[in-house]
Amino acid sequence: MTARRTDGRTARGDPGIEGGIFAGPGEMRALCRALDWSTTALGPVATWSQSLRTITRVILDSPTPMFLWWGPELTQIYNDAYRPSLGASGRHPQALGMQGRDCWTDIWEAIGPQIEQVMSGGPPTWHEDQYLPIERNGRREDVWWTYSYSAVHDDDGSIGGTLVVCQETTSRVRAEQERAQLLHALDLERRRLATVFQQAPAFLAVLRGERHIFELANDSYYQLVGHRELIGKPIAEALPEVRDQGFFALLDQVLATGEAVVGREVSVLLARTPGDAPEERFVDFVYQALVEADGTRSGIAAHGYDVTEQVSARREVERLLRESERARADAELARAAAVQADLAKSQFLANMSHELRTPLNAIQGYTQLIDLGIHGPITPAQRETLARIDRAQRHLLGLVNDVLNFTRMGAGRVEYDVQAVAVADVIADVLPLVEPQLAHKRIELEVRLSEPRAGAEPPAHVWADHEKLGQIFLNLLSNAIKFTPSGGRVVVSFTTRADGSGPEDLAFFQVTDTGIGIPRDRLDAIFEPFVQVRTEYARTSGGTGLGLAISRDLARGMGGDLRVRSVEGQGSTFTIALRRVLPHAEHRA
Ligand code: ADP
Repeated sequence: MTARRTDGRTARGDPGIEGGIFAGPGEMRALCRALDWSTTALGPVATWSQSLRTITRVILDSPTPMFLWWGPELTQIYNDAYRPSLGASGRHPQALGMQGRDCWTDIWEAIGPQIEQVMSGGPPTWHEDQYLPIERNGRREDVWWTYSYSAVHDDDGSIGGTLVVCQETTSRVRAEQERAQLLHALDLERRRLATVFQQAPAFLAVLRGERHIFELANDSYYQLVGHRELIGKPIAEALPEVRDQGFFALLDQVLATGEAVVGREVSVLLARTPGDAPEERFVDFVYQALVEADGTRSGIAAHGYDVTEQVSARREVERLLRESERARADAELARAAAVQADLAKSQFLANMSHELRTPLNAIQGYTQLIDLGIHGPITPAQRETLARIDRAQRHLLGLVNDVLNFTRMGAGRVEYDVQAVAVADVIADVLPLVEPQLAHKRIELEVRLSEPRAGAEPPAHVWADHEKLGQIFLNLLSNAIKFTPSGGRVVVSFTTRADGSGPEDLAFFQVTDTGIGIPRDRLDAIFEPFVQVRTEYARTSGGTGLGLAISRDLARGMGGDLRVRSVEGQGSTFTIALRRVLPHAEHRA
């Protein structure tokens, strides 16, 4: 101190005090030196009291912001550290040596009484972290201050001035604000996490320490284990029924090694309802060690899913699959057995039919021989009987042939010789065969072969196996006669859809009768083998119930079909649909 004072005096060459107290670096010292203090209420520096000089020196030396109001006029002195708080508002540098009231007109109401309090011997003021924004660095800044107003005594012991010592606390206040904000955000985040944790569809529990004491468990965890007391209890106590199921050893292992354990669809028996027997649940889970900052393992997080429903559903599907697989195999076996049986039956029927035909043919031959009188003359009564034998034989042969045909068809052994067949030829072949029955029952037969525009066209042809078409036709005619009462009428017609009402290349044979008709609910069934509509007619006229089954198979075998329309009590119409030989294609046929 002494050296500096000496330097100052020497530097200024001023024996007075000025050089001494204002000596040294800094803007404020320079301003103090430059100011003509005699123009201020303090007067020339030489006249200053020792106290004022000492405090001035202290202020200018201090790195702490300081400001002094001295004397009744409150003349101002401040240091470099304080200078920035005056900002760029224009107060500095005029504020040096100015009177307080003139300088702080804007806030005098606030600070005036505080200064007054100190000057009049009252207690010092203390303001902590006061928000006093200032203009600095070219903009208004948010600044916080901790400051005090305290009395400075003059040489005579009276209060000579008020010293302001302040400390800018902006960074601390800011830091505290930020900390508070962070804490708030953290708290929010923590609460959000807690909600997520609590409501997660996955179960979650935190176990602490070597006894695995429940610290946390979310709703899903309670749902899994049943609602009981967990928190604060060791797991062995909270879930006693789990003791011997291997889970506790896994927990020990995770805590000891730090390695996570993962389980998939692990079965666990849990007493979910107090008093009830433990229930089997399946869980996917992970046990994960909770590692503290210092690396120690303090507990375990257990999380996972209750997958019982999925496991049961999958097991059910697997069971059903196994069952259906078994059923399929059974059905396969049964089908093979049925095919085998069917084959055996067809074979048997074929053999039998064949065996029956031989003696039947022999009966016919011998009857004819007797009828011809080869073994001697026969009486009219005998002839009559022979005729009956012949009819019975023919009937029986017809049945046997039907059965044979049908079994052949079932075995897929029918071959078709499809050619262009003249419709009129087929009809001409068949009609003589039914004439005796027609005559016998006095049934009128009408044959309509004329097509629309018939005269202009060559005789109609269809693609068919001549013999088989005849067989179908004979069967339909026989049925029509069989199921039509005496005096009825049968119409055979042949039409094409040349009028444009259907596919041009189809032709239709129709056999229509005025017979008993077929009940609506039997229209499909009559095409099944061995099906007969149980009427007096069927009983008396015999038959096998195979004729229509065979006929439809034959029609389909030639690329056509056989259908029926009928009104019970009024009559029936059977229609054979076949591909027509179109006029331009006939030459190829
Ligand atoms: P079957 O004539 O040997 O009994 P079909 O297979 O030819 O065998 O005929 C099956 C049944 O269809 C007949 O028993 C009869 O009940 C019925 N049916 C067939 N054609 C006619 C028809 N034109 N009118 C009435 N019923 C018929």
